[in-house]
Amino acid sequence: MDYQELLEQIEADIAPLIGSGTPAEYIPALASVEPRQFGMAIADLDGKVHGVGDWRTAFSAQSITKVFALALALAEGGDSLWERVGREPSGNPFNSLVQLEYENGIPRNPFINAGALVVTDRLQTLTGDASSELLKFLQEESGNPDVAFDAEVATSEQENGDRNAALAHFMASYGNLDNPVPALLDHYFWQCSIELTCADLALAARFLARHGLRADGSRLLTRSEAKQVNAVMLTCGTYDAAGEFAYRVGLPGKSGVGGGIVAVVPGLCTLAVWSPGLDAQGNSVAGVAALDRFTTLTGLSVF
Ligand code: GLU
Repeated sequence: MDYQELLEQIEADIAPLIGSGTPAEYIPALASVEPRQFGMAIADLDGKVHGVGDWRTAFSAQSITKVFALALALAEGGDSLWERVGREPSGNPFNSLVQLEYENGIPRNPFINAGALVVTDRLQTLTGDASSELLKFLQEESGNPDVAFDAEVATSEQENGDRNAALAHFMASYGNLDNPVPALLDHYFWQCSIELTCADLALAARFLARHGLRADGSRLLTRSEAKQVNAVMLTCGTYDAAGEFAYRVGLPGKSGVGGGIVAVVPGLCTLAVWSPGLDAQGNSVAGVAALDRFTTLTGLSVF
């Protein structure tokens, strides 16, 4: 398949949508991003990357980091993580508190904020420095030492982090966190602030297409664990629109409010797309459309 030609076709097809939607406003540092940007990259299993548009512009990874944190926590600590976080779609907004009370402080899945806080808490216990471990992993897998924290975004989240603090304190009251809430929130905000490009993201996610194998050939996850992470992405990775995303795109994917989405074609390639305008559920409008075009034009999906 000629990935470059394909990407150019996709970019032309979705061009009218670039700039639609609204950049995330609840994190002020994200609200000021120019919305008329679009980038897309495809990495094959051997690490060859193709891209179009703004595929080399760094953007805020936000919730996309939750996939990598989950993979690292499973790799370091194994299955016991699932005693503290579920793996069902929540059917609620990503930062909702209500379900947590009904379900005794056990978040529905690792990709809503409450679940991601539990995963980061676990990673902090396992490694002693969750956000740095995550950054190191992303730098190594992408081969780009410039993948970095964005202090302005981390501070902006910190200053507007009451909702995440409420989720963390609430779970702490149920005994579902090991680390002190302020330290955990710090790691979570730094984690979310990581900025990378579509090229970096597509490369870093390759272990999910390589059935758990890292870029250097070593094993991060078992084949079964890689399947599990992909499955949770498919069912829970795109906020309260995971059903719609599965319907339109048919691939495991994880989005973030920075406007990025990573998607996986197991055994073949990874895709990263970025455009800051979000729909009402928090997914990039042009990003979802581009992935939709990818699977429609190629016939590739997990179905
Ligand atoms: N840092 C954001 C938050 O915790 C991440 C949200 C997202 O990308 O879904 O609110």
